Amino acid sequence: MLKRFVLLTILLFSAPSMGFVVLIDPGHGGDEYGAVKTVRVKKGRKVKSERVYEKDLALSLAKKVKERLDPHYTTYLTRSFDRSVSLNERAEMADAVKADLFISIHFNSARDTSSHGFETYYLDNHADAAIKKVENIENKYLQGAEKVVNQILIDLVIQKTVSASRKLASEVHSQIKSKVEKKYKMKDRGIKPGLFYVLALSKRPGILIEAGFMSHHKEIWKLRRGAFLRQYAQSIADGVKEYLKGKTQKELPLF
Ligand SMILES: [Zn+2]
Repeated sequence: MLKRFVLLTILLFSAPSMGFVVLIDPGHGGDEYGAVKTVRVKKGRKVKSERVYEKDLALSLAKKVKERLDPHYTTYLTRSFDRSVSLNERAEMADAVKADLFISIHFNSARDTSSHGFETYYLDNHADAAIKKVENIENKYLQGAEKVVNQILIDLVIQKTVSASRKLASEVHSQIKSKVEKKYKMKDRGIKPGLFYVLALSKRPGILIEAGFMSHHKEIWKLRRGAFLRQYAQSIADGVKEYLKGKTQKELPLF
């Protein structure tokens, strides 16, 4: 009897939050490497060149986020191994699993190799030239004809999701700031609006994380560390939990 009561209590208390579905999206994959950085690593007595791919770092971080959210929500990855997935396929998955939130994970790269730090994006219009450079990198795998349709869709999605996405970005970013900024001496580059097609196509509240600059000669070493990725994943998970705390599905915008 007591066991049944305990079980019922657990179910009652866990039911509302377990109802949420979070889709975590590791950027790139397969032939699409994302950013690439060559580093020199010591192997025994030899020093060898090694290529680090954004697609691998993104998958590693995304899996860690999933592990941390799993006990609380229903979670999925848009890819769980190294394969190419189009932006449209990622968005279709959001519909298929009826995702409430969409979290896209990326690492940054810039021609200016002094750029460093972490930033969190949500879908919105803006006129910032520096942000357009990041958009160009992350949007480049969408075909020309699809872009025309998407301009109309983007406005509709922004209207419906922007306030939820901005709030989600703010909860996640403040967790990253408190857990990662000081500990790993990372620069806080802020919460920013961006026109990322993967966010627009997913049609739900979502964010795109740029967890650090692979092009920065010191930062790349931080990004490769398991401890850093675990801490960053914990921050994302805590931010999501903070955002969903006390919410019901009816309060989230859906198309
Ligand atoms: Zn990327």
